[in-house]
Amino acid sequence: MSAVVRHLRFHGRGGEGVKLASRIVSRAAFVAGWTVQDSPLYGAERRGAPVVAFVRCSDGPIHERGYIEMPDVVVLMDHSLLAHLDAAVLHGLGEDSLLLVNTAQPAEEIKAGYAVPGRVVTLDVSTIALDLLGHRWLSAPMAGLAVKATALAPWPTLAQAVAIELTEIGLDSEFVERNLRATQQAFEAAPAVGWAAAGKAPPPARASATALFVLPRLPARVAAPSIDAEATSALRTMDGWRVFRPVVDLTRCTRCFLCFALCPEGAIQLDSQHYPVIDYDHCKGCLVCVNECPPKAISEVREEAA
Ligand code: SF4
Ligand code: SF4
Repeated sequence: MSAVVRHLRFHGRGGEGVKLASRIVSRAAFVAGWTVQDSPLYGAERRGAPVVAFVRCSDGPIHERGYIEMPDVVVLMDHSLLAHLDAAVLHGLGEDSLLLVNTAQPAEEIKAGYAVPGRVVTLDVSTIALDLLGHRWLSAPMAGLAVKATALAPWPTLAQAVAIELTEIGLDSEFVERNLRATQQAFEAAPAVGWAAAGKAPPPARASATALFVLPRLPARVAAPSIDAEATSALRTMDGWRVFRPVVDLTRCTRCFLCFALCPEGAIQLDSQHYPVIDYDHCKGCLVCVNECPPKAISEVREEAA
């Protein structure tokens, strides 16, 4: 009997922890007894730009490789990507697929608003992360959502995976402990919906285990983006990239120019008085300016509240 391969595709933006989330899910599945394959795809790696990662779990050997064209599950770290067709979040989803979205919006709104085929589960993982971690550190709690929804592994196995992966990248034990609490909160809040739609048998494996290599040709804009192309130029806005926006308090600004010099997007200009002015059409929300401003004159404001 050929192996049944389950396919999970993770979408998010550079800096949101897409790769680490996929690693934690893979580790949990591996410890739970699955054969696992895990690989990220960065494209033109840039903080805030779309990032994809792939996890294959199987009850036997995995012989396929490459881009997951027909996922059983899509894990979406940042719902703003749904509006960007180039990110191809919904690509290959079918009636039995499952879309897991980090958002405060109800699942029905996401399903209807973006014509999502298949099932949708939403959870406000950003708020869990902000409450328990103080930052939008999404990897571990998003893994909690993914592992619970797919019933890939029980909580003790996931906790073990989180501890191993976060310790391996050098996080201190106190932050690992807080991540475990955030992950557990997401895990407990998520429904265990499983792979197939309610009342249906599990869908058949979507790729044959005898297909040795599946390496589809990616469109040029994904495989080899050009720095001169419209998609990466000033002609294209960063609309939807930000989770937080930087806001300058001019009463505290000492006009040191550091934010102007260090903004990686060139999104900060100086006015005639040499005060910084942020171009919100091209600010991607990386918050480098917030971290670098010596008198802490720039604060981060959640985009929905701005
Ligand atoms: S203005 Fe600040 S947050 Fe926006 S892109 Fe520049 S450094 Fe990043
Ligand atoms: S880094 Fe801070 S103090 Fe310096 S110019 Fe920018 S906002 Fe003003």
